[in-house]
Amino acid sequence: MNVYDAERMADMLFPIGYQVVNTPDEADLVILNTCHIREKAAEKVYSDLGRLRKMKAMRSTNPLIVAVAGCVAQAEGREVFRRAPHVDMVFGPQSYHRLPEMVARVHRQKGPVLDTDFPPESKFDFLPAPKAYGRSAAYLTVQEGCDKFCTFCVVPYTRGAEFSRSVTSVIADAGNLIAGGVREVILLGQNVNAYHGEAPDGEANHTEWGLGRLINQLAEIDGLDRIRYTTSYPAEVDEELILAHRDVPELMPFLHLPVQSGSDRILSSMNRRHNKGQYIELVGRLRAARPDIALSSDFIVGFPGETDRDFRETIDLVEEIGFVGAYSFKYSARRGTPAAALPAQVEEAVKTERLQILQNYLNAAQTAFNRKCVGTDMPVLLERRGRHPGQLVGRSPFMQAVHATAPSHMLGEIISLRIDSAHPNSLAGRVVDYNSEVSPA
Ligand code: SAH
Repeated sequence: MNVYDAERMADMLFPIGYQVVNTPDEADLVILNTCHIREKAAEKVYSDLGRLRKMKAMRSTNPLIVAVAGCVAQAEGREVFRRAPHVDMVFGPQSYHRLPEMVARVHRQKGPVLDTDFPPESKFDFLPAPKAYGRSAAYLTVQEGCDKFCTFCVVPYTRGAEFSRSVTSVIADAGNLIAGGVREVILLGQNVNAYHGEAPDGEANHTEWGLGRLINQLAEIDGLDRIRYTTSYPAEVDEELILAHRDVPELMPFLHLPVQSGSDRILSSMNRRHNKGQYIELVGRLRAARPDIALSSDFIVGFPGETDRDFRETIDLVEEIGFVGAYSFKYSARRGTPAAALPAQVEEAVKTERLQILQNYLNAAQTAFNRKCVGTDMPVLLERRGRHPGQLVGRSPFMQAVHATAPSHMLGEIISLRIDSAHPNSLAGRVVDYNSEVSPA
């Protein structure tokens, strides 16, 4: 979502004369769009700010404006100015539609600008229509924020309460992207499947639509060939969404469904609102609806109180489900969250060891899945040029990166590739038929 937000910031600044450049040296304004989810991500901001301080000090004719945006800005507010006095602007993820005004204030008052209130208005009502920028796959935020309050997580405090955009505004944005050449839309939300957007006018019976219904409607748009959504919260997967996986061919057979742990004791202490059995049952229903669906997940190791036995249950779950990919993290205590105050914090060395073990299992499963694809033909949306001349890179239905030597006119097309080899994080293939596109999945 930070990628999406950063682009929307650029869209907001374009009308007042800014354009995106490649390096900070060329910039008049540098915005660090930050993540607060774990300590490591948050601390990185201050080391980047250190580098920008030197750069700013060396500028004479063209002064540099330095801004900190996103969730670190939201969480730390004024503290950012204290630790980094050369910062000119600090603003949170819900107020960046006010950027032109903030920039004007920096120029006017020659002093720092802070904007971390949650505004009463929605930023989406102020953002210009999104552009395709030559891409064939694009992000589209439909939901933001979180009301779940997992005990480890800062998101409810930094992104705010759950909010869903109206169906009409989502369809309009999708239409714009598709008109610009986008073929695949990735719907975004911190809990994207908690989506409950205002229904279009004239819907007497349903005042709100869920994600499943939204996906059905989006699939009707001509030219939209692929739909994905991320990130989902297991306890919010409803029947309509499961049926969308069965009935909507445009909906790709890949789902990122964070489970965090395989231990019921830990899941309960995390306030996850699902246990291991419910998660397994849910995966069963998804697989019944779409037998080839591939799943990935998020895991936290070393949550306070996690014993060897709890950890073993996580490994057991990984073995049982057969995830094709995952993000796994050491638990990071975040100030202000309930879990940070729990007494039984796990030692760093234990977390490191568990993470290593877990990642060995997950990597092996991912490699095995990639190997299984060798010899098959896969429809791949070729999205960009690769590092080598003549090479294009795209995504399989299962979100794998696939490289192939292909003529550049195939950029933006869904091409059948014969998979020749598998690597831990990607596949390599060759064009099967030079004459035609194939169906999306
Ligand atoms: N809304 C999704 C997850 C989005 S947050 C859900 O509820 O499942 C992205 C991921 O960051 C989480 O799934 C979790 O694995 C990780 N994460 C969040 N807070 C963390 C923390 N304090 N320490 C370590 N990992 C964390």
